[in-house]
Amino acid sequence: MFSINKSRNITILASIALSVSAIVLMAWFFQIKDILSIIPGSATMKFNTALLFQLASIGVILYPNNHRSTHILNTCLVFGILLIGGFSFATYFFSLGFNIDNLFISDIYSTEYPGRMSPATAICFILLGISLWGVHASSLTVRLAIQYFLLVIMLVSLVSIVAYALQIPGESRGFFIHSMAIHTSVLFILLTLALALRNPTLGFANLLFGKNAGSELMRSLLPFLIGLPLLLSYILLRASTNNILDFEFGLSLHTVTFILISIVYISIIASKLNKDDINRSALEDSLRISNQELTFFKEALDKSSILATTDRKGVITSVNDKFCEISKYSREELIGKTHSIINSGFHSKEFFLSLWRTISKGNIWEGEVKNRAKDGSYYWMLTSIIPFKDDKGRIYKYLSIRHDITDRKNGEERLAKQYEELKTKNVEIEQFAYIASHDLQEPLRTVINYTEALTEEYEGKLDSSADRYLSFIQDASTRMSELIKGLLDYSRLGKLTGKTKVNCSTLIEEIKADLEATINETNTTITLGDLPTINGFEIELRLLFQNLITNAIKFKRQDINPEITISAKKNDLFWEFSVKDNGIGIEEKHQQKIFIIFQRLHSRKDFAGTGIGLSHCQKIVNLHGGTIWVDSEINKGSTFNFTIPI
Ligand code: ADP
Repeated sequence: MFSINKSRNITILASIALSVSAIVLMAWFFQIKDILSIIPGSATMKFNTALLFQLASIGVILYPNNHRSTHILNTCLVFGILLIGGFSFATYFFSLGFNIDNLFISDIYSTEYPGRMSPATAICFILLGISLWGVHASSLTVRLAIQYFLLVIMLVSLVSIVAYALQIPGESRGFFIHSMAIHTSVLFILLTLALALRNPTLGFANLLFGKNAGSELMRSLLPFLIGLPLLLSYILLRASTNNILDFEFGLSLHTVTFILISIVYISIIASKLNKDDINRSALEDSLRISNQELTFFKEALDKSSILATTDRKGVITSVNDKFCEISKYSREELIGKTHSIINSGFHSKEFFLSLWRTISKGNIWEGEVKNRAKDGSYYWMLTSIIPFKDDKGRIYKYLSIRHDITDRKNGEERLAKQYEELKTKNVEIEQFAYIASHDLQEPLRTVINYTEALTEEYEGKLDSSADRYLSFIQDASTRMSELIKGLLDYSRLGKLTGKTKVNCSTLIEEIKADLEATINETNTTITLGDLPTINGFEIELRLLFQNLITNAIKFKRQDINPEITISAKKNDLFWEFSVKDNGIGIEEKHQQKIFIIFQRLHSRKDFAGTGIGLSHCQKIVNLHGGTIWVDSEINKGSTFNFTIPI
């Protein structure tokens, strides 16, 4: 198929014409007759003809743009062609004495009208000149008319070529084309094709080069319809002049051959067309199915989402029912407006600027937008805005798909508010605990000091009950002091230092060294797995591990040596540590409450303690953003697990 790579093909066709006519011009200067007439004894391409072909070829290649110079050059070329073509033609009919035929070089070869182009050539040049001027005209009618001028040139040239092919003697061709040279005809065809390609969607060019089935049929049949009769007639003529065939028999043979070959050729074309047709209907079927699917998708989207389309400038062009329902505006009120009609004023200018920056670059924008309905109520939309682009990549509309997230956003807002309130309350409680425990220490120290003084002075001097009471007061005040200290420590956790890199293995080795006496006394074995270096509060982490280790030793089973294993494994988001012992274990129902401050499961007689250790542990883990829990089985042991985010 002829490719419509316009500019390239135009340049190729015109360059051939330019080169051939240049060779003919040279042949005139050097008097090489074979080049001038090609077929011995036939008409020559005249000097003026070759000259006009030069002008016309340049004109065809030239594309008048905004530069004035190209317009002037084009006008000059057109003028030159019309002038010489017009004078040549006029000389035939009006016997005017312009005498331009041998103006540049004298024709010594032609007997009749030496140097003068044939009237057909002159007419063709006049039409070609007009076409060169009109092919770029802004008026569609002019450009369409030009296509038909070109068709006339092509047909005249074709008739001349046929005459040559069938060897019709010059005199019998009629005055009009009898002296048009064969290469003149060919060059006319090349240049008209090239010019027709300047407007390939108009007139016969569209018919010849178009993409539709009719054009394809034309392209398949035309060469055949021109070529076959020409070939057959040529063979018939040759055969009859050489007495190989009787002309009448030859004519019948010619007709039968033509009919047979035509039937075969047309059958081939028809079956190809049928095949194309089958493919086309298969394509249509699949297109219908995908169209149907698209309709389903559209309906599903319409039912599930809030939709709106806008033009390039953001003016609303369509909205679905859900949009009207939530915005409380009618369709008529929305169409033709921009989205500023539902602007809540909640978002900054920069927010919308960045939105526009994204979508006008052809990218999808996604985000949460707070809007205002007609009745003044607010609603939140999870919004995606999708730009639609045409073949050239230019945005021609935007589709926005929204989902109502008002409930979620309100919930989030409530939660955030509650969280803030809780944070303030927590700070207040911690301040209270700090102030209370700090201020309680002073009077307590006085109680302890005076109880000691009382004991020193009066022990044994009063009766035995008084001694017991004094000892109770001493015990209770010491315990109270421990409790208050624990409370004070609790309120201070995480306040004194910042986070650093803490190597957990080193940390635990140090704790082991501190607890060496207890470990030896109780025959405790502590096994460490691969422990990481983490980012945390070192003093607090030390307290955390120390509490868990001392508990594991303290809550050992009788006659069984404590065995403690400390390990850590890495998950995607956090480290999970475990401190495992083989102690007395904890009943499932108590596994939550042991983390509450002052909660203990045993009396002080069985196991000493204040019930503060695990609440410290919980606060430290929370401080790092992790959680703590225990897995335990009574009389088998407990595993305290906690996570520290990476
Ligand atoms: P304390 O150790 O001072 O009692 P904790 O807060 O450290 O306070 O512990 C609270 C309670 O949890 C303990 O009284 C004990 O009953 C239980 N507990 C803690 N650690 C263990 C353990 N490793 N094995 C069994 N019980 C434990």
